[in-house]
Amino acid sequence: MTELVASEPAPFIPDNLTIPQFFFDSDHTLKATRPQGVPFFIEDATGRGIDSREVRKRVDGLANGLSRKWDIKQDEVVCLYAPNHVDYAVVFWALHRLGAISTNSNPAYTLDELSHQLRLTKATTIIVHSQFLKTASEACKEVGLPAERIVIIDQATFEAPHTTVEQLIQDGLNHNTNFVERKLGEGEARTKIAFLCLSSGTTGPPKAVAIPHYSVIANTLQIRAHNYTVETKANVPTDEWRFRPGDVITGVLPFFHIFGLILNVHVMLYSGMSVVITPKFGWPTFLESVRRHKITHLLVVPPMIVLLCKHPATKDYEAELKNIRLCFSGAAPLSPELASQLEKVLPNASLGQGYGMTETSTAVSMTPVLERVGKPGSAGIAVPGVRFKIVKEDGTLAKLGERGELVVNSPSNALRYWDNPKATAETFLEDGWVRTGDEVEFDTEGNIYVVDRLKELIKVRGFQVAPAELEGHLLSHPDVADVCIVPVPDDFSGELPLAYIVLHPPAAVRAASSTAESDALKAELSKYVSDVKVQYKWLKGGVEFIDAVPKNPSGKLLRRVLRERARAERAAA
Ligand code: AMP
Repeated sequence: MTELVASEPAPFIPDNLTIPQFFFDSDHTLKATRPQGVPFFIEDATGRGIDSREVRKRVDGLANGLSRKWDIKQDEVVCLYAPNHVDYAVVFWALHRLGAISTNSNPAYTLDELSHQLRLTKATTIIVHSQFLKTASEACKEVGLPAERIVIIDQATFEAPHTTVEQLIQDGLNHNTNFVERKLGEGEARTKIAFLCLSSGTTGPPKAVAIPHYSVIANTLQIRAHNYTVETKANVPTDEWRFRPGDVITGVLPFFHIFGLILNVHVMLYSGMSVVITPKFGWPTFLESVRRHKITHLLVVPPMIVLLCKHPATKDYEAELKNIRLCFSGAAPLSPELASQLEKVLPNASLGQGYGMTETSTAVSMTPVLERVGKPGSAGIAVPGVRFKIVKEDGTLAKLGERGELVVNSPSNALRYWDNPKATAETFLEDGWVRTGDEVEFDTEGNIYVVDRLKELIKVRGFQVAPAELEGHLLSHPDVADVCIVPVPDDFSGELPLAYIVLHPPAAVRAASSTAESDALKAELSKYVSDVKVQYKWLKGGVEFIDAVPKNPSGKLLRRVLRERARAERAAA
């Protein structure tokens, strides 16, 4: 069997600790490397800094407060429905102290989407930012969650009848500990679930990926080994390390997504760096934050790089951008052309890319630490402890230079889909291998090139759009007989969803009667989606009417045919 093996072996990864035990209590932490007085979190708007000791105190206070209030049980699921906030990680680490599970939700989710996540994960409590309280309250009603189980994460300025995180923290700190923290046995961290993150995987609607404590600790240590260990071996001077204690990184990527959750929170805590917590990406406010907080590291998705390279405001921040030492991109492909433009915008920065997915929680490859920009178009080399296989369409393993589906074995791999054995069997294979649904190729130095996506997934600005979810919704419209959603390329968003729709006869006759009627129907169907789905799922790639969705003789939808057609039509336009 030809396997491409990681260039470095896995570092030692403890498998008997929960995430807070590893990061806050154990000898494994690098607390000592965080210079005295350097905050872990910095609130973007106010500059308020919170150091890791204070974070730990708040975690312990909240765990006690939650336990006193509701006696949260082992493996109970709590939903966190909020933008990035200085107490965001405090909430999930407090849940972990109690042995509970955090399911982090996109705060932009609509009522339908949030209700789906609450039902899917059977969450018993929801912790929400007051700005999103209305949707959270409606969703709770819809799924039968009592309003008392809503907790507000921010300091609500109005007379909310709900408990706040701050009240629970203070209550917890003012009383004796009400819970006994679970000590894990050898190996238990590998199966004890910490997070349920939504992902559609290779096919079907969004599912909850069960991520154990071990996976998060593993990926933090793998990334650490990929950087620090290699730098140490190569005698790189400490002031040139990629992640130096005291460096300051943006914290604008959403923490509900695996990339932000691991890279921005856990890896940064471990590296002794400060994270500027920004609830919402804005432009050029992003550059203002870089200036205000003397940011040295940018953690971004490709559309932010498009703005950095093409927006006129960038030139007003030339001096600040010269201070950037690293710009790291992930969650979606970064074109070599854009990367080479970025080199000019950030003249003193290393440019890195990472590749991974929710199911591998998260980065399984990264640009080699000793290369300033890596190989053009490549998402780097395997991080320590990762094994890759490339499987061709006929099921055989690809040779070097051949393309096929990437299958990954990493200690960070998630366990399964929550309550979904069928989908689990399709993606989580024997012996810890995970199918990625991505078509890749390697070069002789082990650099990975993601050349195409074989799975259904569409990525809009790094966010997941599951065609099956939109198709299921559109099929409930009385005029829609059949539908297929495919991606179309877009310079800014990467991809946008396009709907090919087969209409029932009366609507088809109406659409054929005039361009105005056809356009009106298209607008109605677009609105049918935008009324109930978060913005990045809207049909911004368009709506096209077709006579039939191509299917093979056994009725399987030939999505690829329509995807190629959409690509060709857009290229010709
Ligand atoms: P998610 O689970 O939301 O992180 O999505 C994972 C998917 O995003 C991967 O399977 C890829 O299709 C895509 N992806 C992530 N990182 C990259 C990258 N560096 N280059 C190309 N595609 C990427």
